[in-house]
Amino acid sequence: MLTTKLKGVGTSIFAEMSALADEAGAINLGQGYPDTDGPSEVLEAAVDAIRSGENQYPPGAGTAVLRRAVADHQQRFYGLVHDPVGEVLITAGATEAVAGAMLGMLDAGDEVVVFEPMFDSYAAVVALAGGRVAPVLLRPEPGGGYRFDPDELRRAVTARTKVILLNTPHNPTGKVFDAEEMELVATVARDHDLVVVTDEVYEHLAFPGATHVPIATLPGMADRTLTISSGGKTFSTTGWKVGWACGPAELVSAARAAKQFLTYVNGAPFQPAIAVGLGLGDGFFAGLAPALAAKRDRLVDGLVAAGFAVHPAEGTYFTTVDIRPVQVDGDGMGFCRSLPDRCGVVAVPCEVFYERPEQGRHLVRFACCKRDEVLDESAERLAGLDR
Ligand code: PMP
Repeated sequence: MLTTKLKGVGTSIFAEMSALADEAGAINLGQGYPDTDGPSEVLEAAVDAIRSGENQYPPGAGTAVLRRAVADHQQRFYGLVHDPVGEVLITAGATEAVAGAMLGMLDAGDEVVVFEPMFDSYAAVVALAGGRVAPVLLRPEPGGGYRFDPDELRRAVTARTKVILLNTPHNPTGKVFDAEEMELVATVARDHDLVVVTDEVYEHLAFPGATHVPIATLPGMADRTLTISSGGKTFSTTGWKVGWACGPAELVSAARAAKQFLTYVNGAPFQPAIAVGLGLGDGFFAGLAPALAAKRDRLVDGLVAAGFAVHPAEGTYFTTVDIRPVQVDGDGMGFCRSLPDRCGVVAVPCEVFYERPEQGRHLVRFACCKRDEVLDESAERLAGLDR
């Protein structure tokens, strides 16, 4: 019964791994969500909004208060100026913003250049839009991060390419694209007159030593970039699903044209609450990355001690490892399926994030956005892994 468009896409690994976690009573380092609440001002603002009757359909583009808050945030952190009317769209999480952009921009046969591994919704929504993903590999460097070959990026562009779909800081690798890499991507976009759709949900989670550079801030890019983010990671409210897209009116309205028939609108009382969050003081935003970097370090120490070859993240909720020192056959999927029973921990096999799964067969992703005691308990369990 399944449409051929979704045949190659498979089912989400997260449901399977979370079910395994529940069955085995395992610690879930698979799915990326924090196990503590975000700022109380934000939570209280949602409660107040519900009590004061903000419970009906909000405007199609999102509440004026949140659109203004998103525009103010882009100006405050990046110097990017957007008219909240026409250049900002509120969506059901970043996921819907990406889906709206692909469904609203692509025609059948259009190609989208994407770095792989990639967040798992990308390939699915490009396929639903009738498009085709042209993957560019992010290669893990021994003991380090991930890098791409600029020639491979250039070669990925064809006459059918319409969009480069970028994600930085990057899930699942934890890579933060540096200024030189961003310039390379921007140059390709400008040379071939491409639109860039950029998913920046981890924008405030680039760890010390790495800097998040929004591609829209590069010369000549603001006019061709749709920037997507959401409140989920920044305010530890992943279940609220309040996201946004901002950029030139033409790109925002393409995303909106599709979005209006997906969810139409969402999250009425959460929208003013996320607006409160976006207006929090500099201290709140500045504290996010160092706090999470300490958790990354805790997780990395545990993974190294357990014998993995670790690629420490430069940002995001995640860190990836090469399992081959622990399991010589390098079968990440088999490893993750057996891990809950073997030691009571759940992780996600990176192959699900690849167009070419064999490229990521030996890589596994762990989440660090958990309480310290949970990370310590995970480290202890992984140390007891029989090899
Ligand atoms: N993009 C990336 C790169 C992500 O990692 C995630 C969440 N894991 C999302 C989008 C989803 O964001 P939202 O919940 O706001 O839809």
